[in-house]
Amino acid sequence: MIEPILTVDNLKTYFYTRSGIIKAVDGLSFSVAKGKTLSIVGESGSGKSVAMMSIMGLLPQPPAKIEGGSVQFQGQDLLKLTQTELRTLRGRKIGMIFQDPMTSLNPYLKISTQLMEALTEHDRSVSKQTAYERALWTLEQVGISDPIQRINQYPHQFSGGMRQRVMIAMTLMTDPEVIIADEPTTALDVTIQAQILDILRNLQVKRGLSMILITHDLGIVAGMSDEVLVMYAGRPVEQGTVEELFYHPHHPYTQALLRSIPSVMHENQELYSIKGLPPDPANLPPGCPFAPRCERVMPICSQIPPVRTLSPTHTSVCHLETPS
Ligand code: SF4
Repeated sequence: MIEPILTVDNLKTYFYTRSGIIKAVDGLSFSVAKGKTLSIVGESGSGKSVAMMSIMGLLPQPPAKIEGGSVQFQGQDLLKLTQTELRTLRGRKIGMIFQDPMTSLNPYLKISTQLMEALTEHDRSVSKQTAYERALWTLEQVGISDPIQRINQYPHQFSGGMRQRVMIAMTLMTDPEVIIADEPTTALDVTIQAQILDILRNLQVKRGLSMILITHDLGIVAGMSDEVLVMYAGRPVEQGTVEELFYHPHHPYTQALLRSIPSVMHENQELYSIKGLPPDPANLPPGCPFAPRCERVMPICSQIPPVRTLSPTHTSVCHLETPS
């Protein structure tokens, strides 16, 4: 078994709001092995992005509060680090790629300045020349042609796909060991999306990177992941290898997500969609939070479901003993 590089155990992130306590992440546990990709899947509001922001120490506290758990990385619990210690680690050892590069890139600064700063901010001993050469190299790595000319341009001179490549280059400046990619291709069209995913996959293989991929797109999950974690209403509901989740899904929510994937093989059939909406996070139903939408709901589902171990790598949080 490959040693995990990052282990999250029973993470709980709550928001204290006027309308009540929102348990945005409630009891999340997972680990990522070196050189592997874990995808975290779920609808909007399932808590996947909040979980990543909690790990990176990027949530404003208050209103958020980490109420419990640990995040082990290289022998330290990230949740116990000070903001200064976290800042040193963030970007240098764990890089994050966000959904919308325009909000992460400064429109007033040249790409060269932004790339070089990504390195010099973490290591003041690096000379300008070294930072510049590394910036050129990272642009090449992400497939930007003519980097010597492009490095002197501003973000608005790049297309959406090119800006996302620059964001990936920026993450690579510090040679991180883990990359968290939060919906990295959502704003892009399918062709560009495929190119960006290719870049990430190649970099991962070449550099032995570990990756946490946040997405709601199961097509991306199938092509990119080693393991998959499905979240619903802030809780993990099913976790396993990509084969286990796609070929032997146990949890009715995972099964419903898989049924919702459009297929050209069934083009005359009506597209399946999960009925109802995710629950109000400030007012979750007792027991299983998926119960109001579950096609297999039973009276016992008003009680908290148990964690079922289906294989050494596969778990599901459901009262059902066997999948349908
Ligand atoms: Fe459905 Fe019950 Fe399983 Fe929840 S615990 S997913 S309601 S069968």
